[in-house]
Amino acid sequence: MIVAMQEKATEEQIQTVVERMVEIGFNVHRTTGAVQTILAGVGTPAQFDHKDFELLPGVAEAVRISSPYKLAGHSFRPEGTIVRFPNGVEVGGNEVVVMAGPCSVESRDQIFAAATHVKAAGAKFLRGGAFKPRSSPYSFQGMGLEGLKLLREVGDATGLLVITEVMDISQIGLMLPYIDCFQVGARNMQNFNLLRELGTVRKPVLLKRGIAATIEELLLSAEYILSGGNYDVILCERGIRTYETYTRNTMDVSAIPVVKHLSHLPIVGDPSHGTGRRDMVSAMARATIAAGADGLLIEVHPNPEKAVSDGAQSLFPAQFAKLMDELRIIAPAVGRTIAQPVAAAVAV
Ligand code: PEP
Ligand code: MN
Repeated sequence: MIVAMQEKATEEQIQTVVERMVEIGFNVHRTTGAVQTILAGVGTPAQFDHKDFELLPGVAEAVRISSPYKLAGHSFRPEGTIVRFPNGVEVGGNEVVVMAGPCSVESRDQIFAAATHVKAAGAKFLRGGAFKPRSSPYSFQGMGLEGLKLLREVGDATGLLVITEVMDISQIGLMLPYIDCFQVGARNMQNFNLLRELGTVRKPVLLKRGIAATIEELLLSAEYILSGGNYDVILCERGIRTYETYTRNTMDVSAIPVVKHLSHLPIVGDPSHGTGRRDMVSAMARATIAAGADGLLIEVHPNPEKAVSDGAQSLFPAQFAKLMDELRIIAPAVGRTIAQPVAAAVAV
């Protein structure tokens, strides 16, 4: 931390700041310039808020240099984190990994049809919510345990990994036998009790950025999971709430290079929630991969017009297949690989 004193700061005020910095664990290096005194605090005190220093008499500005997240920060693992899954799929490696499927699991036929299509186009994960966080309590809330069982059955039948949203601590144990990756939704990014509990499980977690969360807050939320000992965390940019109303959210593609700079954790993009509009999903998916993301989470429905949730932003299977073809051109252009289509899709 750097503390710049005001020009008129007295020696007594400077000493008070120095004492306070030493008290919390900093080694203080003082530079007395012609106009002002600068105090550089070296070290890593466990906890401090640099803003507290700006309230001390005589202080002009306090700037935090080290990041508040230690385990999620880039320097913790400069080589980057690769999250490994049972069938050899890796997120954060050289291959761009696509997770696709409907917003919600609705029926056996629907999830089988969705899985067959996304598998054939080259997806590695089947997504689908069994527990749904809906803005209205009267909207479809998900199939629950029945939905989890369907996801596992169809995942196994098609050779797809399964990712689905966990909304509450009480669902973790129930979900563990059926899933390959927990998804923490935007609304739960700051459900700290849930994050702490996910730190104790040994299964990967995809953590979505909150609707109004800064990138620093996203990384601090990841820190909750990492600090519990679960290092298999994948971040997800899914759009943030801005003043723009043309799209459902504003897909912050710049979050991809920012996170790559600040953290060692893999990051994927969700252009479905990022735009809310089927006609814009592919453009933002392409941009996300071009920006260096490690993968995508995309809503695909066999019949989007009949979807019980997020139909407007769900791709038709043919649109998804076309997008995957386009990504197969973009990924190599940015030094990445991506799965080829699967010729013989599983018959169900
Ligand atoms: C979802 O993936 O269907 C979902 C509810 O996403 P988010 O938490 O980003 O709104
Ligand atoms: Mn959705």
